[in-house]
Amino acid sequence: MPLQIVTVPCLSDNYAFLAHDGDTGATALVDIPEAGPILAALDMRGWRLSDIMITHHHWDHVGGLDEVRAAHPQARVLGAASDAHRLPHLDVKLAEGDAVHVGGETGRVIDVSGHTLGHIAYHFPDSAVVFTADSLMALGCGRVFEGTLPQMWDSLSKLAALPPETLVCSGHEYTEANARFARTIDPGNSALMSHIKTITEARAAGRATVPSTLAQELATNPFLRAKDPEIQRNLGMDGADPAAVFAEIRKRKDAF
Ligand code: ZN
Ligand code: FE
Repeated sequence: MPLQIVTVPCLSDNYAFLAHDGDTGATALVDIPEAGPILAALDMRGWRLSDIMITHHHWDHVGGLDEVRAAHPQARVLGAASDAHRLPHLDVKLAEGDAVHVGGETGRVIDVSGHTLGHIAYHFPDSAVVFTADSLMALGCGRVFEGTLPQMWDSLSKLAALPPETLVCSGHEYTEANARFARTIDPGNSALMSHIKTITEARAAGRATVPSTLAQELATNPFLRAKDPEIQRNLGMDGADPAAVFAEIRKRKDAF
């Protein structure tokens, strides 16, 4: 049975996720922006946390940890070994390629540094889901604060190579603002234009636009489309190295 994924809205625009294995009852939490909504989502379902998986050190992804842990003291805390010096105490320190488990299901750690150094994603191939936080986001990607632009391109390229049916569970509801920018980069993309219509309707109705699917992102997310000839032409970068095209798109988004 695939993992059951629950999206938990937190703070003003963050998402935490629960991944529940129905066979064993194991439940993992990905990121802890704040405790209240997460504890409520667990209590409502009668779930006990087995694991807490941290993606990166920013306060809006770890701030609720102590309170969640107090209510679920049995949960193990997992995070990047390279970030251990600035994360809360980790029971399991992870690096790229390491295995993680939710009940019977095995996930793999992907290093997606760029937004921060030591940002990791968690990929569960059997359930076709990846938890990307502030690396790949719906119609966007995280701002590059600590890493380099080539490093972020490399990180996004690893995620782009996952199976297209993969569900992309990212960390923020930024999609509408990302859409306003995306249309300036890729105005001739009819898939993007119809996707923006869906997003606008979803937000007007108060619905989340996260998670998305990788197929959707590959078709519409300008940060994954740096190889696209039309985007390259729009930027005056015909035939340029996709990493350079990505860097230009990221710079334009920062200034947008
Ligand atoms: Zn962040
Ligand atoms: Fe964040």
